[in-house]
Amino acid sequence: MKGKKHAFCSRQCLADFSNKSKNPDGYSKLKDFTNISHHMTKLNKTMNPTRMTIETRTKLRKARLGTGNCNGYSKIYGRSAHRVIMEELLGRPLSTEEVIHHRDGNRYNNIPENLVVFPTASDHAKFHFEFRWFIRQLKRIQEVEDADSQ
Ligand SMILES: [Zn+2]
Repeated sequence: MKGKKHAFCSRQCLADFSNKSKNPDGYSKLKDFTNISHHMTKLNKTMNPTRMTIETRTKLRKARLGTGNCNGYSKIYGRSAHRVIMEELLGRPLSTEEVIHHRDGNRYNNIPENLVVFPTASDHAKFHFEFRWFIRQLKRIQEVEDADSQ
């Protein structure tokens, strides 16, 4: 076994060896991990000089813009936009149980026609489950029809 200094009898044995609290002198002694991020930056610069140019960074920024914020929903003053809009439509505050579903699957499409309220998260999940089942049935029918017409 080239390059391998340790052989382990089991996965558990390997896990115990790698565990810092169980074996503080384990892996940390095998290799020098200090300054590893510094080494990576240097390595990237020499081996991949065109990687993080201003152009790439601008592109990445644009591609990732608005996709952050933990859950990827647009926000109105820190609250999920679809919830604020639904409360406006209902004329009452939503309970924490209630879940808003986007009909077209696009979480940024917050026009009233695209929003549905589910009383709980499990009702919402059930809907998605049944909807997927329904789509599968449609596909099956389509396949049968396609086979018949050939
Ligand atoms: Zn949904």
